[in-house]
Amino acid sequence: MNEQQQIMETENRYLANVFSKKPVVLTSGKGALLWDINGKEYLDCSSGYGIAALGHCHPKIVEAIKTQAEQLLTCHGSYYNDKRAQFIEKLVKITPKGLDKAFLSNSGAESVECALKLARKATGKTEIIALMGSYHGKTMGALSATWDKKYREPFFPLIPDIKHVAPDNPDKIREAITDKTAAVIIEPIRGEGGVRVPVAGYLQTVREICTNHDILLIFDEVQTGFGRTGKLFGCQNWDVTPDIMCLAKPFAGGLPIGITLAPESLMSMFKIGEHSTTFSGSPLVCAAGCAAIEVLIEEQLADKAALNGAYFKSQLEALATKHKSIKEVRGLGLMLGMELRTDVHGVLLKALDRGVLVLDAGRTVVRLLPPLIITKSQIDYAVNILDVVLEEEASERASSSRTVSN
Ligand SMILES: *Cc1c(COP(=O)(O)O)cnc(C)c1O
Repeated sequence: MNEQQQIMETENRYLANVFSKKPVVLTSGKGALLWDINGKEYLDCSSGYGIAALGHCHPKIVEAIKTQAEQLLTCHGSYYNDKRAQFIEKLVKITPKGLDKAFLSNSGAESVECALKLARKATGKTEIIALMGSYHGKTMGALSATWDKKYREPFFPLIPDIKHVAPDNPDKIREAITDKTAAVIIEPIRGEGGVRVPVAGYLQTVREICTNHDILLIFDEVQTGFGRTGKLFGCQNWDVTPDIMCLAKPFAGGLPIGITLAPESLMSMFKIGEHSTTFSGSPLVCAAGCAAIEVLIEEQLADKAALNGAYFKSQLEALATKHKSIKEVRGLGLMLGMELRTDVHGVLLKALDRGVLVLDAGRTVVRLLPPLIITKSQIDYAVNILDVVLEEEASERASSSRTVSN
């Protein structure tokens, strides 16, 4: 057995079998590139699931982590810490107006848990309205707001009083509101649900409905935050500000973080002890987070995402004129989806084999979340590989249908 096989076997033997594993052992990364244990190079158009927005091992993140590692790794939230104070100040300087109080945690799901608890605590009401097709994480509370029944059904009963309504139609939200409704939770662009950009006016109207009914609007920006959509926060594409915002994935340059933001008037509804987690705002994570926000602003990555995203999208649209298997290209900034008329599983594996990492979003959507630092020539490279892979898939389908008709 070679080293790669040994590693794969060890993981398979001892880890819970809950990930759809790809046959590759990744061991190093730099910028938009990754290398496997055999030295083979990959272009990462997934940012490690939206985390490595600055690319892998950005030198400023590495430096910040190294320096802080020698200073202090851990400091419970019941004590003050210099890096935590620095991080939170940098963060609230860039968040939409009013969202200036934060609870720090360790993951996207945790940032949603906090939002749901805060909504109940602040309103004294229990019901949450979520959208069909949405994804908010897999802990019990967040899972209750997630749509896909394959994630939810094995774990019934979940927390009660969460209703799912069809997206893009404000009337569905109006109809679902009762005198017990605490909040509406929405991903500005649904990621896992297929990279779905809302129809024009939808988020603005939902904002009005929430304001008029005294209901809180929660935006789950775990995937859309941090410049990915061409604005620092996805909601800024529509000039809509939520009452509570959830952030996570890329905000600490690759280290685990979750952030729940709200105005002081809301966040102060939590009394001491009502919500906490032991790792909240660790110095190491906050040091990386400071560096991540600095790089995001200094390198104007939101603007770059808008420019390069538009280019990437136009190149995918050009592919769509050539490949009948492409049904639609969607997205904003560097959050792109290419819906196929076929299952995407083979495309993912073939692209991997040819050195490009892409994601799926449901059965028929290829999802692209490249690092915001990706270059035009790297985009060209990825598009070229997708072109070749789609061609290959089409000819395989053609030859297997010939076999069937024989
Ligand atoms: C990834 C994601 C989550 C869950 O984050 P985890 O860190 O995996 O718990 C929640 N909401 C959205 C929109 C996500 O993309």
